[in-house]
Amino acid sequence: MSGDEQIRIIRGAGVSPGRAAGPTVRMATAAGEPPRRRRSQGLDEASAAIPAAASAVAEDLTDRAEHTEGTAREVLQTTAQIAKDPTLVSDAQQRVRDEQITPERAVWEAAGAVASQFESLGGYLAERARDVADVRDRIIAHLLGAPSPGVPQREEPYILLARDLAPVDTAQLDPEVVRALVTEEGGPTSHTAILARALGIPAVVGVGEAIEQVAARDVVLVDGGAGEVLLDPTEEQVAAAKERVRVRAFDPPGRTKDGHRVALLANVGEVAEAQPAADSGAEGVGLFRTEFAFLGRDTEPSVAEQVDAYSAVFAAFAGRRVVIRTLDAGADKPMPFLTSGEESNPALGVRGIRTSWQDRDVLENQLTAIAQAAEDSEAEVWVMAPMVSRVAEAEDFVTACAAHGLHRAGVMVEVPSAALLAGPILARAEFASIGTNDLTQYTLAADRLLGSLAPLSTPWDPAVLQLLQYTCDGGAAQSRPVGVCGEAAADPALAAVLVGMGVSSLSMTPRALGDVGALLAATTLAECRAAAGRALAAESAEDARRAARGALPALVELAL
Ligand code: PEP
Ligand code: MG
Repeated sequence: MSGDEQIRIIRGAGVSPGRAAGPTVRMATAAGEPPRRRRSQGLDEASAAIPAAASAVAEDLTDRAEHTEGTAREVLQTTAQIAKDPTLVSDAQQRVRDEQITPERAVWEAAGAVASQFESLGGYLAERARDVADVRDRIIAHLLGAPSPGVPQREEPYILLARDLAPVDTAQLDPEVVRALVTEEGGPTSHTAILARALGIPAVVGVGEAIEQVAARDVVLVDGGAGEVLLDPTEEQVAAAKERVRVRAFDPPGRTKDGHRVALLANVGEVAEAQPAADSGAEGVGLFRTEFAFLGRDTEPSVAEQVDAYSAVFAAFAGRRVVIRTLDAGADKPMPFLTSGEESNPALGVRGIRTSWQDRDVLENQLTAIAQAAEDSEAEVWVMAPMVSRVAEAEDFVTACAAHGLHRAGVMVEVPSAALLAGPILARAEFASIGTNDLTQYTLAADRLLGSLAPLSTPWDPAVLQLLQYTCDGGAAQSRPVGVCGEAAADPALAAVLVGMGVSSLSMTPRALGDVGALLAATTLAECRAAAGRALAAESAEDARRAARGALPALVELAL
């Protein structure tokens, strides 16, 4: 047997559980700048190919828009409009005739001219330059007979292979068609992983160059729980994987076996996720990631538009708590109207609340919109700021919220400095919600997007656990509630540890509520505390996890 034949399983980080099998389809990347080659023959034919390619692209984008909802639909509609614009096409045709260049080179240059015109006009139009580049790449792919960049459009189910996916691409995935996701890069708490989990698409990220071997097979089986891709699954394995993952139903309210209350809440991104989250029994929303409602937007959403989006989420949770987070733009969630895109280290850059230092209006407008939507709703609206790292930032945010009549104002604890200053921060803020994804990234100095650093990206790391306990103690000293809304809350064993540390609410993807609720309902507060004590005494993530699990007998009964 040769070395290659021996490889049957590719391992990466399993970031979204479930098993699925199917044919693989690779997400194409843009072809790049075509060379400036001259041609003297077939100019009429070459020129005629351009409008044909542009209308095919426009048609494809319009068709996709019709089958999509929310932000993704708007992005696709805008892009389709650009593909229909006759200026780009006629300029490119002219270049073929006058300069005798290939149609793809002509489209490249004509798009460059349109983009710089947009840029020189400034404001909203300047931001269209990015869409022009997208249309350009699609037309060029069409002319070259290459697959269109972006998520492939297919009717038949398949396994999507990609180098990495932007959150805006992931948000467009249809779980009925894209049965699983395998990426070369990406870490366990990247926003792509979070979205895949919310959509219930099994995903393995960070498989590195081994993706080539996955692509070379006709059918593979992805096990998103184990973080494995089986290259040559048997017929039985493929058949078994067809049974969709069963999600345990949630029976609210959240509480331990001995009746200690723990609010079990949902994380919501796109507005369309709110009603299904409410239907799942979530006791409220513990994290409404407002930036996800406006992903892919180049311009600041108007106050009216924001009021509409927030009102829809509040309406789904009338009578229940909704913790809305102000825009967390930056790092892997760039928003061109707030972030520069030119930082060498964006995760450590102008991100979250820091964007308000330069663009205070965007924060003020958002608070205006939240206050307006809250005024007309029956939801209990709490507001929090992401990426707070100093006491003064917490104080400033609370004051700003109060000026808008928003009195339940809190902060996220996702930077170690905020955990260490939890006491004084919570003397100002009404509550804290711990973002374990970022807290882990910043504690271990390990980029959450890097698959190669996945072993470091675990909230079970004892250093992260110490900071979690520190934050809970800070909250207890000020009698302020501390919740967790990072992915750690969705791990049943870790959820019990968090409760043992003093956390009073856990917010997660609605699919995880059933498992977490069931474990808590079968576990006493004393067991949670014992599990927390054991985990905190460990010296490695593996030991902490093993020790905590050993203290939680219900895990075995529930097969968790
Ligand atoms: C976190 O960092 O844990 C968090 C909940 O925020 P996000 O994942 O959106 O950065
Ligand atoms: Mg975060």
